[in-house]
Amino acid sequence: MPPLPSELAYVPFVSVEHMMGLVHHIGIENVLIDLADEIEADFKRWELFDKTPRVASHSDVGVIELMPTSDGEMYGFKYVNGHPKNTKEGLQTVTAFGLLADVNSGYPKLLSEMTVLTALRTAATSAMVAKHLAPKGSKTMAMIGNGAQSEFQCLAFKAICGIDTVRLYDIDPAATEKCARNLQGTGLTVVPCKTGEESMEGAQIITTCTADKQYATILTDNMIGEGVHINAIGGDCPGKTELHRDILLRSKIFVEYPEQTWVEGEIQQLDKDHPITEMWQVITGQAPGRTDAKQITLFDSVGFAIEDFSALRYISKAIEGTEFFTQLDMLADPDDPRDLFGMLERSKG
Ligand code: NAD
Repeated sequence: MPPLPSELAYVPFVSVEHMMGLVHHIGIENVLIDLADEIEADFKRWELFDKTPRVASHSDVGVIELMPTSDGEMYGFKYVNGHPKNTKEGLQTVTAFGLLADVNSGYPKLLSEMTVLTALRTAATSAMVAKHLAPKGSKTMAMIGNGAQSEFQCLAFKAICGIDTVRLYDIDPAATEKCARNLQGTGLTVVPCKTGEESMEGAQIITTCTADKQYATILTDNMIGEGVHINAIGGDCPGKTELHRDILLRSKIFVEYPEQTWVEGEIQQLDKDHPITEMWQVITGQAPGRTDAKQITLFDSVGFAIEDFSALRYISKAIEGTEFFTQLDMLADPDDPRDLFGMLERSKG
């Protein structure tokens, strides 16, 4: 039976408080595993999505971006910012919200906070990719940059890749202390480190997740031994990278959507004819992933719209039958669809 007009007029809205409640209700590691599955399923049907590099509005201090995509049935977009200076002002570096809509009617079906959801989906994507590329049996990860994303990354690698030890480093020791404190009781062995080099000792996986609006060199070539997997999250804007170019030249590089990554990712440092592999092709078996144990694999992650689409669709299913949303009166619903003005007049009361 088609929904009644009054039901159509309301849009489920997931607030930050609801999102946190939902995550606790399901369990954070379960959410990360579920999200990784949703994202992997959408990478398998990558070709049928509408794809475009995100639309970015840059300023001297940050960036505001819109990230749209559609699978032909549903349409989604995320609004997200990136402002490395924000934490000094008591604000998040990254905040976001997103919307899912029905392609058939064009009506929104979900509005959701996506600050927490972005941290979850980024971590789930990183770990899902590492499951395909990292050395088999990896147990230790270096986590460089211990800000807002870091605990989510550590937990996703535990739940999805079987990591049991994380070695933390941040230029700000207070960030490392916070991250170590938050990871207490999760079952991970947590080792705070004083330098980036120290954090990489014995690590098979290296995650860089720092925020700086410049070409930074978090990793230099001499720090990277053979056979590791690098999960580079923080370089995601023009002029904002984390790895020395020489590391890129030694690595086999995997990306989400090349048109966007060439502009925003670590590979903006390379010539445009440098070979890169699209991750969806590895996941569908059309391209090889890691081909030998000594190879350095690098996931040059910038975050792509399809990952947000998968996350929004997951949330829209997960809230069904729960109390973790409110109904927003967001759509005009006149009795006669052409009598919008009459509806306004009658509302005078
Ligand atoms: P945040 O500001 O909360 O944390 C960043 C941390 O990096 C801070 O603790 C800071 O002290 C540390 N840092 C800065 N320079 C460093 C250096 N040279 N060495 C070690 N640590 C250093 O930011 P966040 O929300 O955790 O995001 C981190 C980065 O990830 C941002 O650049 C953001 O844009 C990016 N990001 C990427 C994706 C993606 O999909 N690829 C998604 C979300 C965020």
